[in-house]
Amino acid sequence: MSTIIPAKGVFINNRWQPSSSGKTIAMIAPATGKVFGEIARGTAADIDAAVAAARHAFEKGAWGKLTATERGRLLTNFGRVIEKHAEELALLEATDTGKPMKQARADVTAVSRYFEYYGGAADKVHGDTIPFLNGYLVNTLYEPVGVTAHIIPWNYPGQMFGRSVAAALAMGNATVVKPAEEACQVPMRLAELCAEAGFPEGAVNVVPGLGEEAGAALSSHRGVDFISFTGSPEVGTLIQIAAAKNHIGCTLELGGKSPQIVFGDADLAAAVQSVAGAIVQNAGQTCSAGSRVLVERRIWDRFLTDLSQRFSQIRAGTPAMDLDLGPVISAGQKGRIGAMLARAETAGARILARGQIAAGAPGTGYYVTPTIYHEVDPASELAREEVFGPILAAMPFDSEEEAIRLANGTDFGLVAGVWSGDCSRAIRVARKVRAGQLFVNGYGAGGGIELPFGGMKKSGHGREKGFEALYEFGAMKTLIIKHD
Ligand code: NAP
Ligand code: MG
Repeated sequence: MSTIIPAKGVFINNRWQPSSSGKTIAMIAPATGKVFGEIARGTAADIDAAVAAARHAFEKGAWGKLTATERGRLLTNFGRVIEKHAEELALLEATDTGKPMKQARADVTAVSRYFEYYGGAADKVHGDTIPFLNGYLVNTLYEPVGVTAHIIPWNYPGQMFGRSVAAALAMGNATVVKPAEEACQVPMRLAELCAEAGFPEGAVNVVPGLGEEAGAALSSHRGVDFISFTGSPEVGTLIQIAAAKNHIGCTLELGGKSPQIVFGDADLAAAVQSVAGAIVQNAGQTCSAGSRVLVERRIWDRFLTDLSQRFSQIRAGTPAMDLDLGPVISAGQKGRIGAMLARAETAGARILARGQIAAGAPGTGYYVTPTIYHEVDPASELAREEVFGPILAAMPFDSEEEAIRLANGTDFGLVAGVWSGDCSRAIRVARKVRAGQLFVNGYGAGGGIELPFGGMKKSGHGREKGFEALYEFGAMKTLIIKHD
């Protein structure tokens, strides 16, 4: 993209309006390090206006009057609208985040799928009839909570919009989205397309801006009934405090340090491909990245030799080069990763294998060489903390018990993979690892749209994706009717 994308403002009641700040933020393309656009710097006053629009849409506007079936149709149809704009959206996402075009295209397909899935689900959320005392009829029913806030990160801006907003809309809530300042073009474009696709005014509002301004104003707003947050554990704590002050619920998806456990009896060729793919996908900037590989010692040499061979073929490049991975999101993030790796090397970790940065990748872009470290102390930062880059920590184990202990040896618990030809062992280990999603003989980096996803421990709480997400965005009522 050669022309600079101008700031559009804040999207409220189906139209762009100027931000009350009158200020803008420059958008940088990670692949080149160059400015490619500007966004408005939304303020607390803009958040007030967006929450008021959502409240009106929910309580008095056309949105709140739709039946569940009508909402479902709107969502399903919007999935098709996304498909029609797929190439445009993929290009925007790739420019904004630096990811390879094939990844950006897959992301857009997933966004479309979220709307299709939740469109189909909208009129299928129903309660129970509960046996009670004679003379009573007791029913449970789900209602929307009202106005939901969606604070989403920069790693998968489109997918995060789809995952969070589609489920909230399917339940009948009106939404206010604060996308990440570092990549928010696709959420803004999706909001615009929602209006074109016929969503009533106020159902989808998007206020771009800084986390500590627009984000903090949204999460602490008295007019918000629920917060869906994906991002860092540190900000997750702030969100939880803000939610507590207003006595509202929140889902927190805060990343992980997800292990892949490879036993000697596994299909090693399949495991090699999957382990490499799960850490380089999106340049390792995936909450569910498989960032640790735990390998049974008796196959350590063979497995690591094959994995190193695979890693040596991995290349980073621009979106248009469409290689295995792109750059990381920002100069700051690249610097943070570099500092962490320097500390890891001081602590004794050693480089086992590296991929490459393709010759044609601009030197001004934020490329990080995919790297496997070994001799990683399980107590060290590299073994325990999220790098959010294409960096894999490899550690050996001698027994099933040790594998489980290592797998559970971080504060996180988002996803884990178990590779073994022994079905009983794979299930036994999967049952003992504390994580929200467990893969056996595969690893889906987050899994499908249909599969409940979320964390344990410091990875957060609540579930997104699948049918479960609908209940997070709904409030259950119990109706007790005395009829005799
Ligand atoms: P972050 O600060 O937690 O950002 C996530 C979202 O929260 C963004 O929309 C951000 O807005 C917003 N935010 C920031 N401060 C806020 C506040 N005080 N109140 C309300 N909202 C606020 O994450 P980051 O700084 O971009 O990344 C740091 C680390 O977080 C990464 O290195 C990675 O380890 C982790 N992370 C995890 C995920 C995940 O998928 N689990 C995603 C992203 C990052 P702005 O960006 O506009 O400030
Ligand atoms: Mg950007």
